[in-house]
Amino acid sequence: MRNRRAAALAGIVLAAACTSATDDGWPTVESPVPADPAIEARVEEILARMTVEEKVGQLIQADARRVTAEDVRSYNLGSVLNGGGGFPNDEKYSTVQDWLDLADMVYDASVDTSDGGVGIPAIWGVDAVHGHNNVIGATLFPHNVGLGAAGNPELLRRIGEVTAREVRVTGHDWNFGPTVAVPRDDRWGRAYEGYSEDPEIVSRYADAMVRGLQGEPGSAEFLDEGHVIATAKHFLADGATEGGVDQGDARISEDELRRVHGAPYVAALEAGVQSVMASFSSWHGSKMHANPDLLTGALKEAMGFDGLLVGDWNGHGQVPGCTNMSCSAAINAGLDMFMVPDDWRALYQSTLEQARAGEIPGDRLDDAVRRILRVKIRAGVLDRGRPSERRYAGDESVLGAPEHRAVARQAVRESLVLLKNNGAVLPLAPGQRVLVTGDGADDIGKQAGGWTLTWQGTGNQNSDFPGAASIWQGVREAVERTGGTALLSPDGSYDGAQRPDVAVVVFGEDPYAEFQGDRSDVDYPREGKSELQLMRSLGADGIAVVGVFLTGRPLWVTPELNASDAFVVAWLPGSEGGGVADVLFAAADGSPAFDFTGRLAFSWPRTPDQAVLNRGDPDYDPLFAYGYGLGYGDDGSLPELPEERGPSAGPGSRTTYFEGGPVAPWGLVVSGAEGEGVEAVTRRTESPGGETVVSVLDRRVQEDARAVRWSGAGAGRVALTGPGETDISRESDGGLALAFDVRLDEAPTAPVHLVMTHGPSAAPEETHVDLSEELATLAVGEWSTVRLRLSCLAEAGVDMQRVTVPWALETTEALSLSFSDIRLVTPADGSALCLGG
Ligand code: BGC
Ligand code: BGC
Repeated sequence: MRNRRAAALAGIVLAAACTSATDDGWPTVESPVPADPAIEARVEEILARMTVEEKVGQLIQADARRVTAEDVRSYNLGSVLNGGGGFPNDEKYSTVQDWLDLADMVYDASVDTSDGGVGIPAIWGVDAVHGHNNVIGATLFPHNVGLGAAGNPELLRRIGEVTAREVRVTGHDWNFGPTVAVPRDDRWGRAYEGYSEDPEIVSRYADAMVRGLQGEPGSAEFLDEGHVIATAKHFLADGATEGGVDQGDARISEDELRRVHGAPYVAALEAGVQSVMASFSSWHGSKMHANPDLLTGALKEAMGFDGLLVGDWNGHGQVPGCTNMSCSAAINAGLDMFMVPDDWRALYQSTLEQARAGEIPGDRLDDAVRRILRVKIRAGVLDRGRPSERRYAGDESVLGAPEHRAVARQAVRESLVLLKNNGAVLPLAPGQRVLVTGDGADDIGKQAGGWTLTWQGTGNQNSDFPGAASIWQGVREAVERTGGTALLSPDGSYDGAQRPDVAVVVFGEDPYAEFQGDRSDVDYPREGKSELQLMRSLGADGIAVVGVFLTGRPLWVTPELNASDAFVVAWLPGSEGGGVADVLFAAADGSPAFDFTGRLAFSWPRTPDQAVLNRGDPDYDPLFAYGYGLGYGDDGSLPELPEERGPSAGPGSRTTYFEGGPVAPWGLVVSGAEGEGVEAVTRRTESPGGETVVSVLDRRVQEDARAVRWSGAGAGRVALTGPGETDISRESDGGLALAFDVRLDEAPTAPVHLVMTHGPSAAPEETHVDLSEELATLAVGEWSTVRLRLSCLAEAGVDMQRVTVPWALETTEALSLSFSDIRLVTPADGSALCLGG
């Protein structure tokens, strides 16, 4: 075992000189940030003066929006965070000053010793995962999936440096990044947060990013005022869950756990990373948040990590026997700090009681506090004064500085992967007439993806990105510079007299983040989108088509590849859309200005069911292999590809119930209010008692909606039924809403209820929500979207941990309505309802 381990790591991770394997197979890591006797003495001196209350306070990280100065002071809170979309005062348009005021408030309160406490500064953490992405005006880098394709560790180090500097402007000390996941199943909605399916790139990047964010260990810049504490997350094997289910279970061998998913942590530790975040996920059913073998045994003891291990958002609450408000098991397993956004008071109280009672041993409590103090001292927070008075704080010229944007633009150029270039359409010659179309052409929010201003990246407009450029803006600039004409045409139409020479079609996935982005296969979701049609008709008109695909992962786009003359994967490029045009267009003399240097860091599927497709697989059969990517010197011609989709479907997406039809494993059933129903699998299905009839309906494409007719002969129901009890409590806590599209074909004459069934399958309960008021506002004959906040439904009594029917409609009198697209969404502010609850 020992030899095998050492051999496996040698080529991948490191200077093998400082890494050797321990007996149980985890390598020993020599940190470049060795224990400093002066710091250790200072830690001990402080620890000796702390009360147990103060110690427990250090273990708590609350949501910055959920604490007052008095809370921070009296509970001695160790840290606060703002997660995705967590702004000061819940105001998206917060100014730099607003951010700093919050930083100062927390700092001032934490060092207030007027009641005689020790007064340890609280540290403030943030998800700056592709630049300082919660803050208006920041530079936004391509998401990690694109950076992986760039294959340039030195660029990553620069990105880390720039990110750290921009984070410093708002007074934060700590970044929850880099994500060093190795996503092995591309159905996972967080695949784009990973650099590659292979640990090789992830490890090299973990090293570079940590050094960029924190500075070079041993040098004067290490954790100085231009750098921040980095976090390697999410420990361990978050990218290995079965079916790509977010927060799911990794059922892999210990060897794979170490070799594939552990390798990047070795690299991060060798770069001196000061914090690690535990994963929500499990390994063989055991939640990482309470796994002593991996948190303490592997990470702290074998690999010698002496920094701080923070939990993920209420991750401790998912440990069996724990709640958000109590979890000694996590601390005892090795967690040092709880991320407990809302329930921090109750958790503080229970942890204090457990510490007093010895349920959390005194030496474990001290060890956790020591680690927190050590990192705070190394990061200088005990000596640097108020956040607003530190270097770079409040300096708006740093946020989105031109030289920072230049780094991001370089990253965009280097991340682009060229998959096809028939007839050497690219680079586009100067002086042409260029049509730009597709719903991604002029949408900075779409090109930036999730974790952008808002948590899921939804609800943003171009005006939310001052200083940024859409892909269209970049193309226009490039075309006009070389004397051509550019036309933005969202629907692809053009004046026949001015036929374009070439069309650039920018299309792809809409923004998503955690669990919302989980899918049931890797087919590109085309429902409701018209770009394939558009590409085909432009091609039929003799116009050269360049497809530019925005995506967080490889998806099956064979029809789009066939319909394009050239095809570029742009991933999620971020705020500097100009980087795309840099590579697409030739210089004025016709020679390429920049070459395509991006190469796939994720294998590309041949069929929609190839969700688990990784370099080194036994039957590896991708459409484009890991490492693939054309340059301008290559023959880029790609023959017509077969468009057979092959077998489909895997485990159902957790957040889409009906899209085109019920999404497996969900089905649609028609019934009377009680008794047996009939599954609506034919074009027209009638309930046994004739109360309800469901027929297929074409809305955007064929048969993508259903029309329901209630006869009025008694209560009738149309319902989604599925695999038994499903747990959507996290979606509920995460602010998601149940949404469906509806068109009233006549006005209701009796109340219409949304019904959810929940509780144990043996004794289910129903919760009815009267939709009448909402439906009364809808125009007959027009499609609208109804959104109901899950948290409101939970308040109305739905047991979100055991939902069996997530959606049903019921009425008693005659009515006709149509519906489509039932799913869980992140509602734009205020657009979701609390009805009848
Ligand atoms: C926060 C995210 C967090 C999520 C967890 C959101 O409201 O903004 O940062 O990860 O909730 O459910
Ligand atoms: C995510 C983490 C993130 C945290 C804080 C969690 O839901 O899993 O990656 O750092 O929220 O926003």
